Amino acid sequence: MRNFEEERRRLVERLRAQGVGSEEVLAALGRVKRHFFVPQHLAEQAYADYPLPIGEGQTISAPHIVALMCTYLELRRGEKVLEIGAGSGYHAAVVAELVGEEGQVYSVERVEWLAEFARANLRRAGYTQASEGVVRGDGTLGLPEHAPYDKISVACAAPDVPPPLLEQLRAGGRMVIPIGKFMQTLYLVKKEKGKEKERERQEGREEVVRERKCSVVFVPLVGRYGFREED
Ligand code: SAH
Repeated sequence: MRNFEEERRRLVERLRAQGVGSEEVLAALGRVKRHFFVPQHLAEQAYADYPLPIGEGQTISAPHIVALMCTYLELRRGEKVLEIGAGSGYHAAVVAELVGEEGQVYSVERVEWLAEFARANLRRAGYTQASEGVVRGDGTLGLPEHAPYDKISVACAAPDVPPPLLEQLRAGGRMVIPIGKFMQTLYLVKKEKGKEKERERQEGREEVVRERKCSVVFVPLVGRYGFREED
C-alpha cells in the first residue's frame, strides 16, 4: 500500500521550492487526492509532476500547470467559475477547493464518457457540487445558462479566444486560455471596466487586456469556435 498522502506532500513541497503557485493554491493541491483522478493502473504515478493519459488521446494536466493556471486566475471563495475541458475532473476539484462551498464550478466536457469519468472521480473525492456541475457539450459556446462567470479556465488549446467565452466573462473577470496549434502560449485575459480617462470613447464598453504567460502543451479545443475534428 503506497503512502499517497506523503507523496502528495512531497509534490507540493517540490512545487513550492520551484516557486510554482501561490500558497493558497499549493494548499489546495495538498488537499486534492490526485490518485482518484488518474486511471487505476497509473495510480502510482499520480504525484509525479507530468501529464498522464486518461484515454482517447486526452490527458490530465501536470500539477504545476494546474497550480499556475489557478494562481493566474486569483480564485477567491464564493466565485463562480467555468472550466472548459473537464477531462479527469482534477483541475475542477482544485478550483472547487479554492472557491469553497459558497462558490461553484461548472465544467464543460465534449466527450460523453469523459464527462461521466470526471463526475465519478469528483464524487469519489468528495466534490459533490463540482460533480453536479459537469456538463457534456461544446465548451467553445460556453455555458450561457449560468453566465456571467467571475473566472474562466480553458484546459485545451484554442485557435483564439472563443467570442462566447469573452461574452460570458463578468466585467472585471479573468480567463486563462492556451492559444496556438503546435506552439502554444498560455494567456491571461482580463476583462477590465472602461478606464476613467477614456470614458467618453468607451462608455459602457469593457476593455480586454491579454498577457502572455508561458509556453504550454495542451490537447486541442475541438468545436464551433475551436479547431475542427479533422485539423
Ligand atoms: N482539466 C482536465 C484536463 C483536460 S484535457 C483535468 O484536470 O484532467 C482537455 C479536455 O478538453 C479533454 O477531455 C477534451 O475531451 C476536452 N475538450 C476538447 N474540446 C472541447 C470542447 N469544445 N468543449 C469541451 N471540452 C473539450
